[in-house]
Amino acid sequence: MPAELLDGKAIARNIRDEVAAGVAKLAPRGIRPGLAVVLVGDDPASAVYVKAKGKACEEAGMHSVTIRLPVDTSQGELDRQIDSLNADPAIHGILVQMPLPRQIAADSVIRRIKPEKDVDGFHPVNVGKMLIGDSDGFVPCTPAGIQVMLQRSGVRTAGKECVVVGRSNIVGKPMVALMLQNAPDANCTVTVCHSATADMAEHTRRADILIAAAGKTGLIKRDMVKPGAVVIDVGISRVEDASSPSGYKLAGDVAFDEVREVASLITPVPGGVGPMTIAMLLSNTLRAAERGAW
Ligand code: NAP
Repeated sequence: MPAELLDGKAIARNIRDEVAAGVAKLAPRGIRPGLAVVLVGDDPASAVYVKAKGKACEEAGMHSVTIRLPVDTSQGELDRQIDSLNADPAIHGILVQMPLPRQIAADSVIRRIKPEKDVDGFHPVNVGKMLIGDSDGFVPCTPAGIQVMLQRSGVRTAGKECVVVGRSNIVGKPMVALMLQNAPDANCTVTVCHSATADMAEHTRRADILIAAAGKTGLIKRDMVKPGAVVIDVGISRVEDASSPSGYKLAGDVAFDEVREVASLITPVPGGVGPMTIAMLLSNTLRAAERGAW
């Protein structure tokens, strides 16, 4: 029997409704959660993501600011912009859209954002808190969304083998850190694969929960998946598609049609992990505002 679809869209909708309710609750205290998104340059994909984030904020009743800076913005100019947002009491969350132009050091930008406003969860303070299991910090939105999606779909994680393909700071590493915590929605035995892994299939075939975040279309094939596994596809790549008006379609890291035949639950691309990422960004921004420390 083909795997059931793990409907990220529906779960994300619920989270967004919960966030909107949380935003409404803050209104009598005169607090309106505010998210600032900084976009440097004119990368078309980034512009689409930024627009979607702004729209989602407004839908949830949040204050949303998008700061668009030219592609030749200097590090100093961006730093000053971040300092000003750090000091702005109407802004509770700051996100700098990646990738950044070459002249800007992304690491330094991430460190410049106040950890209390780092709703992307990339600041070393938040990364450290996540690793030691301190729930006071912010967790990066995509892995946080995957964990919530598993939890709300009734997937039991404790004692399971979880294999993560990819070790980026944005997805793979935080995913590993989350799933190995001694917590009810984690507690997995975690393996991480990357481009230097000698025999990836040997690892992926052991996975009860397989999370693919390599950015390589169709990397995970049917014979790499254990029957009954839960398969989470994080990858989003554009592939040519003559039948689509845009000339392309979005594809994940999992060969969906064939893997669906063996998995028990699987996320589609699009409509799986993607919507959860934005929902968790809103959720993190609400949390930042609820703290109300500024
Ligand atoms: P990334 O920074 O390029 O990292 C990719 C990781 O995959 C690296 O660790 C790389 O290994 C590993 N990898 C690449 N090819 C591999 C292979 N053939 N076998 C095993 N491992 C391989 O990408 P990312 O930012 O983590 O994103 C990954 C994918 O998720 C992309 O398609 C991205 O668009 C998508 N994404 C989606 C969302 C969402 O909301 N749905 C959010 C973020 C990212 P090395 O470390 O050895 O190079």
